[in-house]
Amino acid sequence: MAGVLDDAQVSRILSITAHPDDVDFAAAGTVARWTEAGIEVVYCVVTDGDAGGFDENFPRAEMAPLRRAEQVAAAKCLGVHDVRFLGYPDGRVEATLDLRRDLARVIRQVRPDRLVCPSPERSYARIGFGHPDHRAVGSAALDAVYPDARNPFAFPELRERESLAAWTVREVWIAGGPDPNHYVDVTGTFARKVAALRAHESQTGHMADLAGRLRDRLAVTARLAGLPEGRLAEGFRVLDTA
Ligand SMILES: [Zn+2]
Repeated sequence: MAGVLDDAQVSRILSITAHPDDVDFAAAGTVARWTEAGIEVVYCVVTDGDAGGFDENFPRAEMAPLRRAEQVAAAKCLGVHDVRFLGYPDGRVEATLDLRRDLARVIRQVRPDRLVCPSPERSYARIGFGHPDHRAVGSAALDAVYPDARNPFAFPELRERESLAAWTVREVWIAGGPDPNHYVDVTGTFARKVAALRAHESQTGHMADLAGRLRDRLAVTARLAGLPEGRLAEGFRVLDTA
């Protein structure tokens, strides 16, 4: 297990993801544990998921507002009430300087102790983990943590025009990456994770036995974590970024 900050030392956590639903598939059980412990959690979602959904008859122009609403509803299921969208186009995210600046801005606004983001690495074992938007957002988020958000001379317009002081994130949790080194037992919050994912009706409404599939996946992770039979877990790669 990695050396991880005690949750009692953590006041605010920022989750950065590429699409509405990413945080719920990867980390909803863990987010529910954090909010139950009194930690404030803020979501920043880079795209509106406008390339998502499965119904070809659904008007595409309505997809972005629908998915934003679904993410806000899913967040409420977990006690998260601050959800920010950056409006980048779904499926075309690159780790540009503009994205790094936009993420550094949110980090300086929220001033989180801990940040959750996707992995910049491709997984050869599970290709769905390596969606290009996830990798781009993971890469830009890590660059925003170090050096952009903490260096007062990076993106000076943030300080000069928006009065946003530099901020150092102490710890990053990479969710859904290929090599987790820390596990959270989410058996007690599993029902809230399922509720959050059901709120993403356009993405999960067609899935038979959503709860059963999630339970199977989290049980595999719990076995990797060495937890007893019957437990469920989510896995992360935790980085000390202080
Ligand atoms: Zn995604």
